Amino acid sequence: MTARIIDGNALAARVRGEIADRAAALSARGVQPCLAVILVGGNPASAVYVRNKVAACEKAGIRSLRFDYPEDVAQDVVMDRLAGLNADPAVHGILVQLPLPPQFDEAAVLEAIKVAKDVDGFHAENVGRLSQNQEAFLPCTPHGVMKMLEAEGVPLAGAEAVVIGRSNIVGKPMAMLLTNSGATVTVCHSRTCDLAFHTRRADILVAAVGKPRFVTGDMIKPGATVIDVGINRLPDGKLCGDVDFDSAKEVAGLITPVPGGVGPMTITMLLENTVISADRAARAAGK
Ligand code: NAD
Repeated sequence: MTARIIDGNALAARVRGEIADRAAALSARGVQPCLAVILVGGNPASAVYVRNKVAACEKAGIRSLRFDYPEDVAQDVVMDRLAGLNADPAVHGILVQLPLPPQFDEAAVLEAIKVAKDVDGFHAENVGRLSQNQEAFLPCTPHGVMKMLEAEGVPLAGAEAVVIGRSNIVGKPMAMLLTNSGATVTVCHSRTCDLAFHTRRADILVAAVGKPRFVTGDMIKPGATVIDVGINRLPDGKLCGDVDFDSAKEVAGLITPVPGGVGPMTITMLLENTVISADRAARAAGK
């Protein structure tokens, strides 16, 4: 069997088109959606992510504000900036690019973002709302995965889903979203015994590990949907996922490639959350 490949670029382009239409309609009502992005330090991967986010905003008609700070900046300086952005009615989304340098209390910074502008969905209140299946800003990567599964018509209710990885950014919210959708979810992580025993039972397998080609074809149930969240840079500069694509595609039914799978959906969901926030602000202002 050779798996059908999910085209994340095509889906992202379609959704981004809809987002651009919504942004244009909001601008016509006098409220141009606006995302503020804070980058601390010189992590090259973070700089690329921020650049891509700002460029995607521009293409969608979303205004972006970018604030860059040196690696050794004091947390108070960033907190002051967040307070200003929280209070600014023209700003609808605020994002602090992670990871932050070691002198930062990351949780405190994330909680300093106004919940209504937390378009990354990392504030503890949004995480709590997600866990209770209440309306919330959803973290962009797992939200993008859910959009893909929905677009591909993958049945979720009653499915066995296995998530490899338990990070706050991907693994845990991914597991919560799948649970909320009726899947029976197993979360595997670095302390899991006999990982393959779990993965071979999965109708839906999500890999968010950060290890190149970690999941091989023999770990996959025939016909499964395999979602590769990993982005790993190889010594030759090329990108690869957490799934060994060549062996996995011979066993899976549906599979995402890297690049061109989950990655483009992550930024798309960030744009969508920003437009949703701007729409709420416009309504609240009677526009
Ligand atoms: P992380 O390092 O915070 O978490 C990795 C998880 O993998 C941990 O929970 C750990 O327990 C688990 N793990 C490590 N070794 C394991 C093993 N041997 N067996 C089972 N589990 C193991 O990483 P993260 O932030 O969750 O990101 C995961 C991957 O996804 C990375 O490659 C990252 O670059 C990528 N990522 C992609 C996007 C995107 O837009 N596509 C967004 C965020 C992260």
